[in-house]
Amino acid sequence: MAKKNIIKCSFCGRPSDMSEVLVPSAIGETYICAECIDQIHEMLGEYRNETKEATKAKYATDLNCVPKPREINDFLNQYVIGQDTAKKYLSVAVYNHYKRIAQKNDDDVDIEKSNIIIVGRTGTGKTLLAKTIAQLLDVPFTIVDATVLTEAGYVGEDIESLLTRLLQAADYNVEKAERGIVFIDEIDKIARKGDNPSITRDVSGEGVQQGLLKLLEGSVVNVPPQGGRKHPEQKMIPVNTKNILFICGGAFDGIERKIAQRLNTHVVGFTTDASKQRIKQENYLQYIAPQDLKSYGLIPEIIGRLPILTHLNPLDRNALLKVLTEPKNAIVRQYQKLFAMDNVKLTFAQDALELIVDKAIEFKLGARGLRSIVESIMIDAMYDIPTSDITHFEVTRQYALEKLQLANFDISIIK
Ligand code: ADP
Repeated sequence: MAKKNIIKCSFCGRPSDMSEVLVPSAIGETYICAECIDQIHEMLGEYRNETKEATKAKYATDLNCVPKPREINDFLNQYVIGQDTAKKYLSVAVYNHYKRIAQKNDDDVDIEKSNIIIVGRTGTGKTLLAKTIAQLLDVPFTIVDATVLTEAGYVGEDIESLLTRLLQAADYNVEKAERGIVFIDEIDKIARKGDNPSITRDVSGEGVQQGLLKLLEGSVVNVPPQGGRKHPEQKMIPVNTKNILFICGGAFDGIERKIAQRLNTHVVGFTTDASKQRIKQENYLQYIAPQDLKSYGLIPEIIGRLPILTHLNPLDRNALLKVLTEPKNAIVRQYQKLFAMDNVKLTFAQDALELIVDKAIEFKLGARGLRSIVESIMIDAMYDIPTSDITHFEVTRQYALEKLQLANFDISIIK
């Protein structure tokens, strides 16, 4: 113990009894104290932030560094099955967004933003597209849900809080946030719902739409830095939305009927043949036009501010099979990775995959349901295999069927 007093930090000279800890070097009589470690940690953080900022700033102004529409599309293809039209629209819109940010104001031409609206049934990839794009981007990006506005939107302030998340994504750097992209999910939930018997609450959604219009149009809005109404004392941050790109997504349930009415035809509805109905609805969505959004209950001003309208196709059996196995982050690949960590090779028989897809279709779960079905099938294997000496596990159709029955699958999913 007597020796302890003469050990010192080799960086600042602090003796061991003045520091919480002295960490020895692996190669000799060199030590570093807790205080020096803290200081280096702080310096390193700052250095890393600065380099990151410098790279991002370069991206934001140098178009050569920005991925071209075809490259964006190729990237999306690695994660999202099908939806070629929407991918094309999004790729171009994002690229143009970068151009707008990089444009020089040396003439009278001002490239305006073109906000986007994507219509597609739930579970067809709207959020996935948005998230995948976010991976690629060097501008702040956030996904917000329009349904929160239906609950709180009649107090004007709350609409601005949509931008709080964007500010957070930009580390509260207002200038960066003003060039960001916001994905507003479930935009159809703020559509006007016809006659509204309530006079006290704006459940019709029109007030919310008016509020949203202000953001889409491009104006300076006061954003609560902490969001919500819980912090009334907070100081608002003014943010100009002129260059913020808004991408809206919604399922617009039943819009096929509006499209059909416009096209002067009838949806052959209420047929018991699910596949027939699916094909018909798929056909109608591809004819979607702005006036259908209006008949659905979006106000014309909002539609005018979302000039790019595109749709997602329902995923058919083939597409669902691909969703299971093909994307970089495919569900099957995720389970294979889990098993590989226990040194077990996991495979799925083709007819087992088909069963999974058929169940998802049967229960009208779409791509969203695939995961819960696979989870029900795999739970026992995931429980037992780590303590067994199995090295290869194949999920056969028979095995999958048994597990689904055991899991009371049809009952639990319908609930
Ligand atoms: P929504 O259209 O309702 O936003 P999501 O994008 O959240 O649907 O999709 C739910 C899940 O289904 C995704 O996480 C993904 O696993 C899967 N999925 C949906 N559509 C696709 C697609 N086109 N390609 C690959 N996976 C998809």
